[in-house]
Amino acid sequence: MAPTTVRPVDIILHKRHGGEHDPAELRAFLQDYLSGDVPDYQVAAWLMAVCWRGMSDRETAGLTDVLARSGDVLDLADLPHTVDKHSTGGVGDKTSLVLAPLLAAAGATVAKMSGRGLGHTGGTVDKLESIPGFRTALSQDAFLRQAREVGIVVAGQSRDLAPADGLLYALRDATGTVESLPLIASSIMSKKLAGGAESIVLDVKVGSGAFMKTPSEARGLAETMIAIGCHAGRNVRAVLSSMAQPLGRAVGNALEVREAITCLRGGGPEDLRELCLTLAEQVLDASGLGTPRGRLEELLAGGHAYERFERWIAAQGGDVSALDELELAPGRELVRAGSGGVLAQLDALAVGRAANLLGAGRTRKGESVDAGVGVLLHAKIGDAVAAGDPVATLYHRGGHGLDDARASVLSALRIADAAPAAPLVLETGLR
Ligand code: URA
Repeated sequence: MAPTTVRPVDIILHKRHGGEHDPAELRAFLQDYLSGDVPDYQVAAWLMAVCWRGMSDRETAGLTDVLARSGDVLDLADLPHTVDKHSTGGVGDKTSLVLAPLLAAAGATVAKMSGRGLGHTGGTVDKLESIPGFRTALSQDAFLRQAREVGIVVAGQSRDLAPADGLLYALRDATGTVESLPLIASSIMSKKLAGGAESIVLDVKVGSGAFMKTPSEARGLAETMIAIGCHAGRNVRAVLSSMAQPLGRAVGNALEVREAITCLRGGGPEDLRELCLTLAEQVLDASGLGTPRGRLEELLAGGHAYERFERWIAAQGGDVSALDELELAPGRELVRAGSGGVLAQLDALAVGRAANLLGAGRTRKGESVDAGVGVLLHAKIGDAVAAGDPVATLYHRGGHGLDDARASVLSALRIADAAPAAPLVLETGLR
């Protein structure tokens, strides 16, 4: 590969002084990094300059393109109405498990690569692996065949999908440069573009448990990602949703699959159901399969989405007969309200941390997760509680992490005379 004509130090200085990169120079700099001609420390210095100075839409689109094309780009053109969804990460977020079968039941094809996640609990793939036998390592042929035959396939992210993002993300993680809007937007969208779906819905989370703490920051991220997707010829919609409290009541891998199953059978917590229906409406509309909400509700209540779920799980080797009895850790401890009143705060970050301390998530890439541990909430913001009422059950294995997890859940709670309004969907239909 030809070396860049601009010295890396000049690229760093240009960004440090607030300049805009020429797309060809930026591409050459990053390609030289990927081929080993530019060392980590220079890219780290450049990343820090990006954090402070930002990037224009043109630069962000250029960076995304380099990352997306650094590995395989899936060709899903032969499949009907391919759709994908991305959430910027939340506590108790099991929407993909509900959304994928719901969308397939509505006529779309969900062919999705999903990460393991470094969040408080595992990612979608970890959650699915709490089902005995479920396989997430699929060849490309098997992946495409299942997408065609079943309408849903979810595989672990292949090492060949946007590999440059993996490298850059590891460097960002180690150099305090994760929190940057253009870097987050390009990282997420590079994987979505390489994943090949023609229509994408983005669920951008806002609140204590999310990267974006305010609606205006979240809107900025959504708009940047939409611009990248549209520039690449995809139909992209975004929804802003609250992560002030966990989504649903279950936080932990098997616990979340159980809750998703309840939702697929027409029940489940109202907030989870509402978000799944909103995301489904958006992405189906974007893909030309516009489906009224009433019809989507019927697909849940009538068992059609659940049927798809079972077919999907069986196609990937999962034991469908085990779905009603997924193994949970045997240790149980109740966390009780210290006083009576209304639950006014249930901090998502602190509940997520508790699940992580119990072993539901990983703190380092490659660590294993415990599928059976986590937190089940018995109250949500706005619920009345009496002193001594259980507000959460901690599922633990032999007391591992229990003391710190209990303290974290207690720190998440505030009980007062009244609760502030806690809307879930803050904005929808961004495009
Ligand atoms: N998720 C990603 O995939 N990348 C980021 O930079 C942040 C969240």
